[in-house]
Amino acid sequence: MKEIKKFDQKVWLASPTMHGDEIKFVQEAYDTNWMSTVGANINEVEKLACEKTGSKYAVALASGTSALHLAVRLAGVKPGDKVFCSDMTFAATVNPVMYEGAIPVFIDTEYDTWNMDPKALEKAFEIYPEVKVVVLVHLYGVPGKIDEIKKICDKHNAIIVEDAAESLGATYKGKQTGTFGNYNCISFNGNKIITGSSGGMLLTDSLEAANKTRKWSTQSRENAPWYQHEEVGFNYRMSNVIAGVVRGQFPHLDEHIAQKKAIYERYKEGLKGLPVEMNPFDSKNSEPNYWLSCMIIKPEAMAKQVRGEQDYLYEKEKGKSSPQEILDAIAAINAEGRPIWKPMHMQPIYRMNPFITKNGNGRAQTNAYIAGDSCDVGMDIFNRGLCLPSDNKMTPEQQDVIIEVIRSCFE
Ligand SMILES: *Cc1c(COP(=O)(O)O)cnc(C)c1O
Repeated sequence: MKEIKKFDQKVWLASPTMHGDEIKFVQEAYDTNWMSTVGANINEVEKLACEKTGSKYAVALASGTSALHLAVRLAGVKPGDKVFCSDMTFAATVNPVMYEGAIPVFIDTEYDTWNMDPKALEKAFEIYPEVKVVVLVHLYGVPGKIDEIKKICDKHNAIIVEDAAESLGATYKGKQTGTFGNYNCISFNGNKIITGSSGGMLLTDSLEAANKTRKWSTQSRENAPWYQHEEVGFNYRMSNVIAGVVRGQFPHLDEHIAQKKAIYERYKEGLKGLPVEMNPFDSKNSEPNYWLSCMIIKPEAMAKQVRGEQDYLYEKEKGKSSPQEILDAIAAINAEGRPIWKPMHMQPIYRMNPFITKNGNGRAQTNAYIAGDSCDVGMDIFNRGLCLPSDNKMTPEQQDVIIEVIRSCFE
């Protein structure tokens, strides 16, 4: 492989991009002394979120995870209940199900959008017809097969909790993600498409659910002159300081999406001719927010790669490569890529949890992994895919260098 010069400044996977107004709203919170979980910034960001998404109500919370936690409670999940969950995702999607003592049942992924496979979901309802809640993610900002999944959930009277943490601004048939479920979540974590440094929101069209979320997130105080409690509460409200940052970011959401889209298109063009594909989406029905650009190596071009629980090995093969080889090559020039989210059914903590594929099978019965073998789609995408540096401050010149490094891995 030829030597390529390291970047002086690290090119990140996805880092915060500030614009100036954020600090003005933070300063305003300070100057007016609303250094609290009450204040104008909070009211304003809730309004902005409703305007952008078309959701009737938005409740600003401390994080996307706390929003998911309250969503799971709103959905009525009880200890011991089984809950169907997207399998290939960040652990935060599933943690709130565990907080409630429920049992995540993992639904395999499809190849068209890298999200929950409706066929596997249908199988799961055959096996567990009693399940009443489905937690659905739109991975990397790409909307999943929403119509198919909604139809199945309606048929089984199941509630949808939509995890739109990565997909704020993405649309499906012209409608924003975060508005398809009964209770929906977005995140303003530092690496998301817009950020408050942290923060999240619960979106819903139900006034009752929004009111409950406000009450639960502020320690479940009853309407009484003293601290009166009838339900367990949480300290989950967003800070007015954080809300100031989010408030300054919201007007730049579409600009960030346009930058991310340009990055995706540039990779797509630059990687042409290699035995790879970009992460796919349904171009007829959906417009992603392009939060992260990802690629997947075609099965026939996969060099040998072995991943243990903590480490990995790969071989250099002519004309072939592997995600770990490419990630190492990217890291060597001071840029940040990342493996695909390791599917939940492959995680040690969930090794005993059910996992349903489109054939109704659970985990593969042997350790033999064949690239492109679709019996466990999540495992296959994890093995062959990776997330590319997708920072919206990356210059086209820097991106060209990254593309060159990827190309050199296949020499
Ligand atoms: C970031 C993320 C979350 C959690 O959001 P936080 O604000 O970090 O708590 C949940 N689900 C997915 C898919 C995410 O990417």
